[in-house]
Amino acid sequence: MNNNTDNKHISPSQIKTYLSCGRKYKYKYVEGLKPEKVSFALPFGRAFHQTIADINLYRKKHETLGHEDAYKLFQETFERELSTSETPVTFEDGEDTTALISYADKMLKLYSEHIQQMNTEVIAVEHEIEYPIQGTDYIFTGIVDAIEKDTKGICIVELKTTGRMWSDSTVDYDVQGPLYKKALTPVYPNQPIQVRYDIVTRGKSPKVQSKYPDCNNHIRLTDLLREIIYGIEKGVYVPNPGYICNNCDYKAICMGVAL
Ligand code: SF4
Repeated sequence: MNNNTDNKHISPSQIKTYLSCGRKYKYKYVEGLKPEKVSFALPFGRAFHQTIADINLYRKKHETLGHEDAYKLFQETFERELSTSETPVTFEDGEDTTALISYADKMLKLYSEHIQQMNTEVIAVEHEIEYPIQGTDYIFTGIVDAIEKDTKGICIVELKTTGRMWSDSTVDYDVQGPLYKKALTPVYPNQPIQVRYDIVTRGKSPKVQSKYPDCNNHIRLTDLLREIIYGIEKGVYVPNPGYICNNCDYKAICMGVAL
């Protein structure tokens, strides 16, 4: 068995996968199975993140990456992601590469305007973090999309591209932001730190929203991590059949159904 947890690192994706379905975690991270298919949302999100990272690198230098260049970068990155994918990419009804590239055009314009209005200074882009999880021999690792600064202090920015808006409770119970805040608090001592989720919806009429989770109100984060790690170490991979199975990349192997 190829146990990818042997290196004792755990990422936000691993944590979220374990919380959503233990069996999916086992297929992906313990057994290292290749997914049967992958949703277009994954290469689309990667290309969008890469483009926004470039826009932010320009912002960090107090320069601007123009929309045409950003759009071209997205298009090239997305097409490369699709053509090099080892796993078949699936699209939703009525969507294809051309439609998605035109969505990205509008999304990039909208989001670029949105972050300009934020009037913040970019101090780091794609910033790698890690910290030891108390009471375990695991290291939490992650990559923060951007760190910004304004008159109120430090802001950890997480970009999400989604099919629909996030509710307040989705934001408040997401573990990624609080984990990043916990990791970066010693890096910026005595400075107020907040987390901002920038959520950009995908579609013909995209929307953007910035939401600030109440990280202090998060359910005992360290306890949660310790319990997840305990489950992983003990080989507890409880399946969670439900609506998430419809889009699960391991549905056929899990349920023995034809895709
Ligand atoms: S099909 Fe459902 S139960 Fe099976 S691994 Fe995927 S999400 Fe979990």
